[in-house]
Amino acid sequence: IVSLVALGFDIEKGHIYFQYENKKLRDLAFEIGTKTIFSELSAIYGFQGDVKIAHMISVLVQNADILQPQLREYGGPKPTVIPVGVDQDPHIRLTRDIASRMRMFLVEKRLDDKNKTKRMDFKPTYLERGVLDAIREKLKEEGYSTEEHTFHIDISNVQDVRALERIVRDVEFEHRGYGFFLPAATYHRFMQGLTGGKMSSSVPESYIALTEPPEDAAKKVLQAKTGGRVTVEEQKKLGGLPEECTIYELLMSHLIEDDAQVKELFEECKSGKRLCKACKAQAAELMFSFLKRHQEERERAREVLMQHEMYKEWFR
Ligand code: SF4
Repeated sequence: IVSLVALGFDIEKGHIYFQYENKKLRDLAFEIGTKTIFSELSAIYGFQGDVKIAHMISVLVQNADILQPQLREYGGPKPTVIPVGVDQDPHIRLTRDIASRMRMFLVEKRLDDKNKTKRMDFKPTYLERGVLDAIREKLKEEGYSTEEHTFHIDISNVQDVRALERIVRDVEFEHRGYGFFLPAATYHRFMQGLTGGKMSSSVPESYIALTEPPEDAAKKVLQAKTGGRVTVEEQKKLGGLPEECTIYELLMSHLIEDDAQVKELFEECKSGKRLCKACKAQAAELMFSFLKRHQEERERAREVLMQHEMYKEWFR
């Protein structure tokens, strides 16, 4: 948390929480559990009969993590973007399904023969008392022509589906519904470890911790696996393999912000103009300065957190 704040997280605008002490999150997870079945989790995560219940609950809690920003306490439904690792894709898809299931209504665009009719579906099993009357009234007020069926309402003069969705969501929210937007996500790929392959806490040379001494981190960079050739001559002739190089990955992902500079570096490596010894020395130096600066920032961040009503408890 200290590093997060040191890296620029604004505690006045953002919110940090521990799952175990967040009652709203646990309540939401519980409700999500009423919309999720075992065979679904089993199909996604491979759960068998011997899986612990707590393991299944942890999935629901993570679904709740994703939907939590849309709770009433945080301003209600809103579009959200969740940054996750690529391996978390099934998790995001499951949460999107759940968000949809937790809606009272589903607006679906259906075209008739003349390509005109739009239809709104609703889920009658999850309606609070009075919701349907409120939705009828609102649609009438907004000038929509409706035709009611047992499980859906046809609306024939929809110009803007989003406007209709907004109306439906507002009514749902006023009647204690969630009105969730489906969460979106950005997918992030993993960096390989400095020794090649995966980073592992049992192989300290494979990763750099934000709290480790900058000189030690710089040494690790100097010893990291590169995409260089066996000899300098070969590298000058054939060029290096930045796609396989941990140093390039480090420079690209963390140490050089300017994309044009990263591109130039890539091309220099490919063409054999750039050699690994100098390249590693540059990366080691950048890593050293970054960590030194970051660790000074951490001290400042700790003071900020200690003075903050909500977070000072954690530093007692
Ligand atoms: S020159 Fe740099 S980027 Fe290219 S392989 Fe060597 S260390 Fe990696």
